[in-house]
Amino acid sequence: MNLFKRTLPPAASPIYFRDIINGVKGLFRGRKEVNRFETELKEYFAIKHCFTVSSGKAALTLILQAIKEQNPERDSVLIPAYICYSVPSAIKRAGLKIILCDIHTDTLDYDPIELDKLLSNQYPERKIDHDRLLAVITPHLFGIPSDIERLKTIIDNEKVCIIEDAAQSMGSEVKSRKLGTIGDVGFFSLGRGKAISTVEGGIIITKDTALAGTLKNRIEKINNYSFIEQLTLLAYSFVLMILLRPSFFWLPKALPFLKLGQTEYNIDFKIKKLSSFQAGLAKTWQTKLKQMMKTRSQNVAICHTMLKHLTNLSNHFLSSILIKSEYPLLRFPILMNKKFERDTIINMSEKNGLGLMSTYPDIVLNIPELKEELSSSKLSYQGAKAAVDRILTLPVHEFVKKKDMQNIFRLFINLNIE
Ligand SMILES: *Cc1c(COP(=O)(O)O)cnc(C)c1O
Repeated sequence: MNLFKRTLPPAASPIYFRDIINGVKGLFRGRKEVNRFETELKEYFAIKHCFTVSSGKAALTLILQAIKEQNPERDSVLIPAYICYSVPSAIKRAGLKIILCDIHTDTLDYDPIELDKLLSNQYPERKIDHDRLLAVITPHLFGIPSDIERLKTIIDNEKVCIIEDAAQSMGSEVKSRKLGTIGDVGFFSLGRGKAISTVEGGIIITKDTALAGTLKNRIEKINNYSFIEQLTLLAYSFVLMILLRPSFFWLPKALPFLKLGQTEYNIDFKIKKLSSFQAGLAKTWQTKLKQMMKTRSQNVAICHTMLKHLTNLSNHFLSSILIKSEYPLLRFPILMNKKFERDTIINMSEKNGLGLMSTYPDIVLNIPELKEELSSSKLSYQGAKAAVDRILTLPVHEFVKKKDMQNIFRLFINLNIE
């Protein structure tokens, strides 16, 4: 174990002491603080309706419950087979059915050919009942924008709600449109590894007034965090302030029971309104977001230069570099040629505290709790499987220094030699 060694977290949204002070002030200001945060979000995204809750999955569950209330005859939700486990967790929490579609490894977005085949019922083993399709969830994984216009064209059904999972892409834009505002409804996560963190938290935004009305009624009925729960969040924010720093991250890494960075399937999560402590913690979110996007774009540019060098050195481990342009990514994904090479470089990174990481433990089909429901489909989801096995992500957050990038580069060179 690497005690006391500089260790990069794979993703980090720093919490500073002044944020915690703002949180405590917010705690005493109460509801006004949450209203301030929601008003700022509405202005920033130029959108009519905004709600803040306890997590991204809570946001998604509420969205699904609200659209289900509007369309009681519909009950299934289409998602990519490669996705954060929070997404199927929220769908099951809302009591809905999951339909999977494969992704393309070049984009990590829906594979358009597979999606078209699936929706035109060319798979006899997986019939889609179009009268029951409630929603399609489209994630911008790692901050890479998914193609929503193309998705709309393929779905070609006004009744199906397009839910934009912008949990990993807060602040990014495509063609001057902010991610999260392009679909019918969008959500963000304010969890630990995301762009802006309030320890935990989620945001819903929509321009659809009818949906916003239904959401408002539902959210009015959910609980607030108690005072004690807010104090627990306060204590936790102190822990994160310290432990997410590279000089201390060896510590949580040495404590596996913290289950850091693991994605779990779990449907018993809390659904609450965002607390005034959390809203206070996010007081300087716009400045932080701007700063964060700047550093991440710079680090993404360095990754590109580094990978170009590696390609010139005819490094045969890289199968493809998924993202060409300089989006402010949450982590920089690379598709490797072989799983064991991906795993080897992660082991090397672990020894050197460089924060390289694989992504989700498996495709949604293989989540044990869902196996029974989904196994009848018998489709293979090759793109999703390849992503699970071969994607490697590099850290690009603001604690990553040029020196760290050079050390990461060296890992690839050493992989070449081994
Ligand atoms: C983190 C994440 C979520 C869920 O957010 P939580 O706040 O952790 O519940 C959903 N989708 C994606 C793609 C995510 O990365």
